[in-house]
Amino acid sequence: MNKHSVLIVGAGLAGLFLALKLAPRRCVVLSQAPVGQASASSWAQGGLAAALAPGDNAALHADDTVKAGAGLVDPAVARLIADEGPARVLDLIALGVPFDRTPDGALAQSLEAAHSRPRVVRVSGDLAGRAIMDALTSAARAAPHIEIIENKRARALLRDVNGRVCGVLCDGGETFEADEVVLATGGVGGLYAVTTNPVEAMGQGFAMAARIGALIADPEFVQFHPTAIDIGRDPAPLATEALRGEGAHIVNGAGDAFVSDLAARDVVARAIHIERQAGRGAFLDAREAMGAHFPDAFPTVFAACMSAGLDPRTAPIPIAPAAHYHMGGIATDVWGRTSIEGLWAVGECASTGAHGANRLASNSLLEAVVFAGRIAARLRDDAPQSPRAPEPTTAPPSLADQPRAELRKLMEAHAGVVRDGAGLGQALARVHALSEIHGQANALVASQLILSAAFARTESRGAHFRSDYPDDHAPHRTFIAAGRDVAAAS
Ligand SMILES: Cc1cc2nc3c(=O)[nH]c(=O)nc-3n(C[C@H](O)[C@H](O)[C@H](O)COP(=O)(O)OP(=O)(O)OC[C@H]3O[C@@H](n4cnc5c(N)ncnc54)[C@H](O)[C@@H]3O)c2cc1C
Repeated sequence: MNKHSVLIVGAGLAGLFLALKLAPRRCVVLSQAPVGQASASSWAQGGLAAALAPGDNAALHADDTVKAGAGLVDPAVARLIADEGPARVLDLIALGVPFDRTPDGALAQSLEAAHSRPRVVRVSGDLAGRAIMDALTSAARAAPHIEIIENKRARALLRDVNGRVCGVLCDGGETFEADEVVLATGGVGGLYAVTTNPVEAMGQGFAMAARIGALIADPEFVQFHPTAIDIGRDPAPLATEALRGEGAHIVNGAGDAFVSDLAARDVVARAIHIERQAGRGAFLDAREAMGAHFPDAFPTVFAACMSAGLDPRTAPIPIAPAAHYHMGGIATDVWGRTSIEGLWAVGECASTGAHGANRLASNSLLEAVVFAGRIAARLRDDAPQSPRAPEPTTAPPSLADQPRAELRKLMEAHAGVVRDGAGLGQALARVHALSEIHGQANALVASQLILSAAFARTESRGAHFRSDYPDDHAPHRTFIAAGRDVAAAS
């Protein structure tokens, strides 16, 4: 048994930034893989959105965030992340993140889809995630108040006799007790056959919280990135949106444009899905826009293409939509508190109300650092809590390779870019059957939440498109606790 003050589950940007901000309060960070691996943060290509340029401001940024979210963004949360973003960028610079600069030394700002201003800070073109994670990993490893424990996977949350969360149960039955537990476990893309996420990102924290009845918000809203590189790799490498910001165009196999290049992500993803389904193919043509500069400007994308024998300087890049980001997740308040005492959530596994039905590009790294900063402030300043001893808990089974592969195909086919009631119903029945056969694995619990909310939302909104209900109704969020709808709020 291990007993700690603050236990952070997950060592991506959200978990590490929170750990650093907690100083001097001591914390332990658990990671299912070595730090930097199995983390979407390391793969972020575009960068982090923050209103730092002359002529830009937090109100404009919040406005773009609200518009992108298709009626479901909480405007107060949009404003909060826009307001606090610039200070968190300065924190990252102080931690050593080498954001790109203009020749006169100002932070360079790039334009991404659905932003009304250039406001994304990047590193060496498409290396933002890697550079941010390298800086944070070094700082966290050197910080005396942080203990990092790698290759330790949490499977279930522990609670005391009062229902307060007081630790986690890991693989092999090992337990970690703590006064406060923060889930920072990332997204759900690994539940899909085609994803840009690490395949390990199967909504484990999201499912662990749901199992103990934590309020879950908007699980049906999964964002599909329109331009994953279609070279048969799992996960699919990404061609960042910034390429289109720099003038690359989306075309079909005949070279014809069929969608506005900088339209919202859901619009572009659906157009590409339809073009591919119709057999016309979809490509990102960066030949004219990038030409010989490609390797220097977007080294990650260039290397991914070349690894498949495709030179993007001379050939268009084949593209497909891929599960990319979970707008839904564990519902939190503006301080990152969940509905269960002692449990906090931050980063992609949380649903703060910032993203609504469609996340604005580069707002997820922003939300992760802003909410990590807010949770750290509460955990540093509030009176410390002392939970009682944990009640006995059993770990859910983990899903073997074969049913996991079946689940990923099922989610791809029925909970993807275009959904309908018949397909969602069929997928729900199969997930139920898989749970009967293999037990209620976290991946099955997470899938069931996404499918059932998608089935119940009989409209199309943002990233959730129902071919049988193509129109939208009055905006409402989905809230689920202990497997049941508890509210639908405007
Ligand atoms: C290819 C790609 C490009 C992207 N580009 C951008 C971008 O340019 N800008 C932007 O804003 N967003 C971008 N995103 C989204 C963004 O990267 C993520 O939303 C964000 O990094 C999530 O951070 P996180 O810390 O919440 O999760 P992650 O970075 O995924 O970290 C999750 C951590 O939790 C650990 N973990 C998970 N489950 C367990 C468990 N059960 N026990 C122990 N540890 C566990 C993982 O090992 C990992 O350490 C991109 C995403 C991808 C995939």
